[in-house]
Amino acid sequence: MTEKKVNPQDPDLEKYRSLLGEEPEACEACGGALALEKVNLEDYQGGKLYMMEAVPAYVCQECGEVWVPEPLMEEFEKMIATAKAKDTANVPTKNKKERKK
Ligand SMILES: [Zn+2]
Repeated sequence: MTEKKVNPQDPDLEKYRSLLGEEPEACEACGGALALEKVNLEDYQGGKLYMMEAVPAYVCQECGEVWVPEPLMEEFEKMIATAKAKDTANVPTKNKKERKK
C-alpha cells in the first residue's frame, strides 16, 4: 500500500474544492484528526471493476477510515453509469434494462 501525502495547495485538489463542501472536523468513527488526501475509489459492479483515481477524501489519521465527500461519490457513480452505458451499447444483451434518472 502506498501512501502519498498531498499538499493542500495541489491544483488537482483545488479543482475539487468546490465539490468538497464543508470540511468534517473529526473522524465520525473515532474522533481522530482528518487529513485531505488523494485516494482511489473502487467499486465492483456486474463483474467489472470501476475506478476513479486521485480523488480527494478525508482520511482519518487515527483509524485510517476514509470519508469521501458526498458530491465526489456522486461523481464516481455518474462515471460508473456512463461506463456501463457504453458497455451496454457495445455488447447487445437480451434483457437490456433502461436506467431512468
Ligand atoms: Zn478515525
